[in-house]
Amino acid sequence: MGAGQKGNPLTRMFWWAVAFRVGHRITKDGGVATPEVEDIFADILERAKALDPANTRKWFEKLTVLHLDGGSLAIGCPDEATVQFLQDNCRAGFTRAAQQITGHLIAVDFSVGAYEKLDSSSRRPRAGLSDPVLQGEGKTGTLKLHPDYTFENFVVGPSNRLANASCIAVSQSPGNTYNPLFLYGSSGLGKTHLLHAVCFEAQRRFDNAVIQFLSCEDFVNRFIRAIEEGNLSGFQSQFRTADAIVIDDVQFLREREHSQEEFFHTFNALYNNGKQIILSADSPPGKIPSLEERLISRFNWGLVTRIDPPSYETRVAIVQKKAHLRGLDISDEIAGYIARKVHANIRELEGALTAIYAVAITTGQTIDLELAQTALEGQIEPTTRHISITDIIEVVTKYFDVRLADLQSKRRSQSITEPRQICMYLARNLTKHSLEEIGGHLGGRDHTTVMHGCNKINLAKDTDPKISALLNNLTKQITQTPQA
Ligand code: ADP
Ligand code: MG
Repeated sequence: MGAGQKGNPLTRMFWWAVAFRVGHRITKDGGVATPEVEDIFADILERAKALDPANTRKWFEKLTVLHLDGGSLAIGCPDEATVQFLQDNCRAGFTRAAQQITGHLIAVDFSVGAYEKLDSSSRRPRAGLSDPVLQGEGKTGTLKLHPDYTFENFVVGPSNRLANASCIAVSQSPGNTYNPLFLYGSSGLGKTHLLHAVCFEAQRRFDNAVIQFLSCEDFVNRFIRAIEEGNLSGFQSQFRTADAIVIDDVQFLREREHSQEEFFHTFNALYNNGKQIILSADSPPGKIPSLEERLISRFNWGLVTRIDPPSYETRVAIVQKKAHLRGLDISDEIAGYIARKVHANIRELEGALTAIYAVAITTGQTIDLELAQTALEGQIEPTTRHISITDIIEVVTKYFDVRLADLQSKRRSQSITEPRQICMYLARNLTKHSLEEIGGHLGGRDHTTVMHGCNKINLAKDTDPKISALLNNLTKQITQTPQA
């Protein structure tokens, strides 16, 4: 029996419409023989992958449908890290996919949980969201970790061997080996990946450990907010009582005297209690501009380790690993081709792989060398033209006739919010800046605000042809602006 024979008339109508759309049979007695909820979900999943190859992962196979009805789709995920990854990166894609497959506007929700298989004659989705079993906290608790960034997924080579080994040592015995551990290297070489991996591993080993993991920018912003709200003691106790603190991109402390002072005391409190401190930056402690001497010396107390750009062999292995994560099969020849084309930044290796995957999906061709060459011809050239957030802001403010100061202000009127969110969306799509960095250019907004802005414009683009045309127009202006 199909899902559509039960329920109120509205629900029945929903299933009827879906059945027609996905081409399943209607039974003689007027019931919907199929689709089974899982079949529809499989279609939605395939569509979501095709719509957003960059965020497609092999573990999507483990996603299950907890609940699907006229207005909502609840998706069950293996753990909290995957929930967060999907929420942050895939909500718009899944929403679009669900809408395209069912013909209905559907709110998509992700949570930890699994579809409970009943016997095949009475298979139906459980009302997952209210079920306490399905609400279980993942191992990573409230830490915001990227499910790809584990030690298992990190390819070790001569350029990062020491950094990887020291991270493993610290995650196995925090506070006892290298303290602090300081990783540095240029952008896109795996610092953030290793920090996430340490957190995953430490959480796995030490169930109750309190780990504070955040970007330095986040640390600074929270510090400022604590002062504004008169809650400095709350801030201090949060960070000074942790078992480990992991702070990414500490070069952000430069020229921030008050934050450096606070950081100094946080460092001392943790260090004196034998708690682990792990830091990353784009340069070694002594080369971070305007960093106080006492911090430089403390950062040098433990182990300072550098990550270098990867060798050709390591790049090939990384491409293979990333392809595997996405469930793709690529030959050594193609992995070698990508590794030769892109050398400086591993993030760009992934971009190349995604471009190839996208062409394969849209053309329905299998991935061979010719396809890879075509995909990268179009991809690598434009990225050599550097687009900055300032370029974007300039075009957007001119078009909407607003000032940069308005975009950076706290004002929330539609006439300001819209251009601000459009800046976020364009910066996310046209530059390699992180959500934090984009927020920094727009009045110090935090990454969740930027994410929300991007998602909003993404959805608007799909439902409002005017917005979609406007975005095309602005993109054209930005990419065609002559370089200074
Ligand atoms: P950074 O923080 O140094 O700028 P990230 O950690 O964000 O760099 O890495 C950029 C991308 O490259 C991430 O997707 C990460 O998984 C990947 N990456 C970097 N080094 C490796 C590696 N050795 N093995 C696998 N992936 C890697
Ligand atoms: Mg990083």
